Amino acid sequence: MTGSAAPLLQLDRVSKRYPRGPLALSEVSLHVAAGETVGLVGESGSGKSTLARLALGLLAPDGGSVRFDGRDPHGLRGRAGRVTRGRLQFVPQHPRGSLNPAQPAGAAVEFSLQVHGVPRDERPRRVAELFRRVGLDPVLARRRPHQLSGGQVQRVAVARALATGPDLVVCDEPTSALDPASQRHVLDLLAELREQEGLAYLFISHDLGVVRRIADRVVVLRDGSVVEEGAPDRLHQDAQHPYTRALFAAASAEELPHAAPVP
Ligand code: ADP
Ligand code: MG
Repeated sequence: MTGSAAPLLQLDRVSKRYPRGPLALSEVSLHVAAGETVGLVGESGSGKSTLARLALGLLAPDGGSVRFDGRDPHGLRGRAGRVTRGRLQFVPQHPRGSLNPAQPAGAAVEFSLQVHGVPRDERPRRVAELFRRVGLDPVLARRRPHQLSGGQVQRVAVARALATGPDLVVCDEPTSALDPASQRHVLDLLAELREQEGLAYLFISHDLGVVRRIADRVVVLRDGSVVEEGAPDRLHQDAQHPYTRALFAAASAEELPHAAPVP
């Protein structure tokens, strides 16, 4: 089979312009192999979320192509659509906004299981399992989103994504709304799940310091174009583009050792 050699996600010279809006992406090519974590970094407005929506099939490109496991994820319907949506999942920046405030947090995870075809009587057990898997006490499944912290809500979003057994999870600024300690915990969780489940991530952030901690490969986006890509350490030591160097200069350095004393 040639399938195993092809990347899981492949964007080929993708362009996107919003109606009466800017050219959000211009001929962007990017791929994610099975089990790989690709970091996508760029300033606010560089086109990261647009790329996420295209990768998830929520938007169609104006030019170029998007393939998930060889198929265009946009407009897939019926069984093929369900199967693809299960394998290709999403963790948003502001998950509180994607949870129903009137329903307990567990309902979102249960709904994901339902769409994935898990029988009703199995769902409560699976919800509890998924809550434990993301480091949450299953009793929290009965709380409403406003009764949970930002970090806990983000873990619920991760549990909801895991419920369908995905191969690739697109994480759009999954830690940007969190304080540094919760940010570190969610990053550690994502890294751990990747090891356990063999997940691939498209991990998006404006913060190269965060991306660098988790990505195998980093793609740098500026004004809708890729300016540079490479292994995080290579980029850190030898960035070719001044924009990449500027992103490193602005990066959070939370895990770096304390600054060396000035000689
Ligand atoms: P990022 O996620 O990197 O901040 P976005 O993909 O959200 O960037 O935005 C890229 C560009 O497209 C920005 O100039 C933004 O203002 C514009 N844009 C994003 N969404 C829309 C939309 N729904 N309609 C019009 N313009 C949009
Ligand atoms: Mg964005």
